[in-house]
Amino acid sequence: MKTLKELQDGKTTSRALTKACLARVEALDSSLHAFLHVDESAPERASQVDKESPLAGLPIAVKDILMVEGMPATCGSKILEGFMPPFTATSVKKLQDAGAVIIGKTNTDEFAMGSSTENSAYGVTHNPWNLDRVPGGSSGGSAAAVAAGIVPAALGTDTGGSIRQPASFCGISGIKPTYGRVSRYGLAAYGSSLDSVGILGRSVDDLIPLFEVMVGKDPLDATTVDAPSITRKLSAESLVGTRIGVPAEYFVKGIQAEVEERVREAIKMLKMLGAEIIPINLPHTEYALPVYYILAPAEASANLARYDGIRYTPREGEKSLEDVYRQTRGKHFGAEVERRIMLGTYALSAGYYDAYYGQAQKVRTLIRRDFEEAFKNVDAIAAPIAPTTAFEIGSHGDDPLAMYLEDIFTLPANLAGVPGLALPVGFDGDNMPIGMQLMGAPFSEENLFAIGRAYQGATDWHKEKPNIG
Ligand code: GLN
Repeated sequence: MKTLKELQDGKTTSRALTKACLARVEALDSSLHAFLHVDESAPERASQVDKESPLAGLPIAVKDILMVEGMPATCGSKILEGFMPPFTATSVKKLQDAGAVIIGKTNTDEFAMGSSTENSAYGVTHNPWNLDRVPGGSSGGSAAAVAAGIVPAALGTDTGGSIRQPASFCGISGIKPTYGRVSRYGLAAYGSSLDSVGILGRSVDDLIPLFEVMVGKDPLDATTVDAPSITRKLSAESLVGTRIGVPAEYFVKGIQAEVEERVREAIKMLKMLGAEIIPINLPHTEYALPVYYILAPAEASANLARYDGIRYTPREGEKSLEDVYRQTRGKHFGAEVERRIMLGTYALSAGYYDAYYGQAQKVRTLIRRDFEEAFKNVDAIAAPIAPTTAFEIGSHGDDPLAMYLEDIFTLPANLAGVPGLALPVGFDGDNMPIGMQLMGAPFSEENLFAIGRAYQGATDWHKEKPNIG
């Protein structure tokens, strides 16, 4: 990473860089609204960071769904307004211990439920490429902050696409790690069996140093494991011998023509770099959307039960305990969160459990097996991230189904627990960025990075910057 190298070589200091980040927030954030909290004391903390530490004082931003001690955590919701977490998420703590400086918290759809950041209770974030468009979501604040050059990298979370899709909409790179490779401790749970913490950065090289620090077993998250070594190590210089699968199910009717064209061109480039391109099938792909929108709300309905007016601020109602629950939740949860809680509770209710939740779990296994089969023959799968480029703010306003459809290509990786790397691969006719994802077998992020680096070594899409001051 260029910025990191400059810090390590003493070409700049963490304090100077952190100050520059804050100045850029000051200059741009009134039009972007990428940040929910900015830490004015960051430059002071930066001057205390050890230059010799692996991240050498690198300033980064963190999606406001991860806990950072000393900074408010809202999760984009009014129900947590004023909440100060008494601890720091493991992923963030590891970065801090390695010398990263957190400059602030970025905007998110409420509890990460959404694909546009429009569900934030604190207002939408604007896409730096066109302020009338959404930045994607739910990690839209982090994506916009990186794309606008405010920070060199930012943390996001991906339950059903929330790192890859905003990366695609904002023309940057992003990694959604294998489920269990990065600790979820200190992440406000949405769909616990799907959630993963990852990174957004301009290029693959910007993701790697943070990724290396963040991975590994955490005694505070029983689902984490120490990554076993990957089976085949690929080279970043040449893709000769690398097998890349292209799933027919990801190139369907309804996808924006330019998205398909740019992704196919990117695949051609991988071929020119030596990769073998193999047509494959992931036959259960069409079920990912209904399966996800049963399982994620079901898990969310349980996870969000804790916001009850007793344990967190604020509190409404006083007649009875039920009155407190009803009024606090009724007043402070947004419409999308309420919709998910209702869907989820319904899917889990006696009488419907087997028909919905149980059935969805079985189909999830079929989706996972599709990937297991595919990865017997290929090292990575290349596919579009979203069927369209960033849409206009408000255009999906009262149509939740249209919004859910945006996730069609990102949900399978979460259901299967496999990693996904987002890479910018070009633009549409309106100059809006287009992304491609590379999915890999569990614990093969290093391979995805190698392919991504080879691609970015041969192309310049990741160097394109929006014209925003
Ligand atoms: N858009 C999907 C949802 O609304 C995914 C969100 C996410 O990955 N956090 O659930």
